[in-house]
Amino acid sequence: MILFVAVNLKRLSVLGKKYRWRKPALCPGCRQSHLWGHGYVDGYFQGFARALALRRYVCPGCGCVIKLRPKGYFARFQTAIGTIRAALEQRVGTGRWPAGCAARGRHWLSALKRQVLVHLGLAWLQRPVAAFDRLRRMGVVPVSRSFLRGGRTGRA
Ligand SMILES: [Zn+2]
Repeated sequence: MILFVAVNLKRLSVLGKKYRWRKPALCPGCRQSHLWGHGYVDGYFQGFARALALRRYVCPGCGCVIKLRPKGYFARFQTAIGTIRAALEQRVGTGRWPAGCAARGRHWLSALKRQVLVHLGLAWLQRPVAAFDRLRRMGVVPVSRSFLRGGRTGRA
């Protein structure tokens, strides 16, 4: 299970495992309150050359493993949601991707089109940025290439 929490990525990159994560108060699975530390997993984010150590907890009650991820990022994506959306907006508005963004941007846009067709229908292809926002409100990762679990997972 992933929990999205406020994380200062810059500070995390400096402090590594000394970064002070705030332990979730309750297990999101069974609601009991004594989570145990469960090591770290590598997370990669745009603008950081090396992996950042993301905290994990485990619930001794139900065995649920809880991974903390930074708010503002989709699971498995290295680029911030706001950056992806701004890039799409620029592409739609000007026909050009922001500098250095074209290769990823093309992946995002083709994935978005597929999510639009699956979840919203053909008419929404005319309004990709609005579709991006609507898919997010539906709990779908708009630029995911995966349709497992409603497109909530995927890599880019
Ligand atoms: Zn639990």
